[in-house]
Amino acid sequence: MRIVGGNLALDFVNTRSGPPDGPPDDDILHRYDDVIAWARWIGLLTDTAAAQLRRQGQADAIAAQAAYRRALDVRDRLDELFRSVATGHTPTGRLLAAFRDDAAEALAHAEIRADDGGFRWHWADHRDLRQPLWPIVHTAATLLTTGPLDRLKGCAGCRFLFLDESKNRSRRWCSMEDCGTAAKIHRYVARRASARARTAAS
Ligand SMILES: [Zn+2]
Repeated sequence: MRIVGGNLALDFVNTRSGPPDGPPDDDILHRYDDVIAWARWIGLLTDTAAAQLRRQGQADAIAAQAAYRRALDVRDRLDELFRSVATGHTPTGRLLAAFRDDAAEALAHAEIRADDGGFRWHWADHRDLRQPLWPIVHTAATLLTTGPLDRLKGCAGCRFLFLDESKNRSRRWCSMEDCGTAAKIHRYVARRASARARTAAS
């Protein structure tokens, strides 16, 4: 599991992988427990909160399935939203309205806490199985309204989205170790093939 988005909402979108164009071909979220495991892994939940949500999910399979479906719906919207912005398109009014409802639900469950001389939104109620989604949605809303959207990009080699924090905004790949290396190998093989073709022709 690679965490390369530079933003919680983009990392959530990146729980599906596949080619840059076309539908995803892999997904790490197969059930509600996977959502909890991912949220714990990325640091969104403490061990205690994750254990509590997992227990509740196991006690109420129907609610867990509903929360899982909701997570997938939210992810679909974030995916469509940020992918269209990354490619220079304006999201549809229908999509923005649906996302607005997600963001409103997230804030409706938040509290404001004093923190480090300032204040921040906080989601402490772990009795609702949708709880991990709210900070993700809120992060998405903040990214959408305050940016930096000019740094939002899609990987040239896969469907991952990321914020390009490089100084000259030259990052093309989700990570140099994966797609960057694959592209370099591809170019190397192509160069070798054309060099061989030239040698054969001379
Ligand atoms: Zn990639």
